[in-house]
Amino acid sequence: MTGNEIVEIAIKLKIKYKSTDPFKIAAMLKIDCNFVSFSKHVVQAYILRPHENLEPFIFINSNFDKKSQQIFCAHELGHAILHNNPCNHFDGNPLSNSTEHEANLFAIALLFNPQLFNTDIEEMNNYTLKAILDHNVSYT
Ligand SMILES: [Zn+2]
Repeated sequence: MTGNEIVEIAIKLKIKYKSTDPFKIAAMLKIDCNFVSFSKHVVQAYILRPHENLEPFIFINSNFDKKSQQIFCAHELGHAILHNNPCNHFDGNPLSNSTEHEANLFAIALLFNPQLFNTDIEEMNNYTLKAILDHNVSYT
């Protein structure tokens, strides 16, 4: 999938559901978001898809603040919509793989107005995308 296609999917969802709130959009798509309490260093969020024909479940660490949880949820929602993997998590390695890049691009396109940035977001590498998201997460 190209970066343009991913950005387009995110923008269409925002228009369709008149919201940039990933929790609201997940609810409309019947994707369950669950809050679980973990130490903040252990895990931020993850997604499980028990079967490829079933809607996935998103898990968010309840110990983070609201703004951070929105970032995690938007990223996991990106996996839910773009990928069919049985499991994915919001991990700390910015260079991990293309699915992480796609989920980060989706999250930014959903949460932010792409015109706010001086570069096309679909041209940004994963390191830059992850840095923008991390800037909005309070890890302490
Ligand atoms: Zn991920």
